[in-house]
Amino acid sequence: MSVPVPRLGPGDRLLLASHNKGKLAEFQDLFEPYGLEIVSAGELGLPEPEETGTTFVENARIKAHAAAEASGMLALSDDSGLCVDALGGKPGVYTANWAGPKRDFSLGMRRVEDALQAANATSPAQRHGYFMATFCLADPQGNDWIFEGRVDGTIVWPPRGHQGHGFDPVFMPDGYDITFGEMPAEVKHSWAPGEPGLSHRARAFAKFVDAVLEDLD
Ligand code: IMP
Repeated sequence: MSVPVPRLGPGDRLLLASHNKGKLAEFQDLFEPYGLEIVSAGELGLPEPEETGTTFVENARIKAHAAAEASGMLALSDDSGLCVDALGGKPGVYTANWAGPKRDFSLGMRRVEDALQAANATSPAQRHGYFMATFCLADPQGNDWIFEGRVDGTIVWPPRGHQGHGFDPVFMPDGYDITFGEMPAEVKHSWAPGEPGLSHRARAFAKFVDAVLEDLD
């Protein structure tokens, strides 16, 4: 029998199974209206598990279960990345690795561009890609629930804008003529109850809200 998804409301604590500061800032913005007490794996000094999965779902499950077991709390992870069609879906689950051990995203964006040039992908249609976000909510008993969001767009060069994080300056979402790097945070993860949201993370969050969070009055 499947275990019902937990319901959370104001004052409840949730552990964010992430050590990535850019992601944490986005999550804090997203959770702010719900009054949840958010603590992060980084703040609790929890070890970072090795992401040995080959899919976003596998890696999200590894991170959420490790954090839930180590803390005894409900834990939420996000495994995300950029998938580019002309590169056969790369960098995909290896997006962070493309930025090298120092997580130098100028280098990561340059590597994506070099690979696109090597593939002769010069027109916008050939430079289509998408960001994927996979959330996993896990409890300390070993149960989990998955929520996924995706946003499609075009990879541009050179990078544009200094807002956001990671690969934001080279990603222009469909329907916009500015990159995520040129958007204020409120626009990138704009989301309102009943709406799908813009960013991959906002879209996964919208599904999480529907299933897990108590309605805002
Ligand atoms: P993860 O921590 O293993 O999920 O790595 C995700 C990788 O994808 C990191 O390198 C992030 O910088 C990149 N990434 C994920 N979401 C975004 C986003 O919203 N904007 C820019 N880069 C992102």
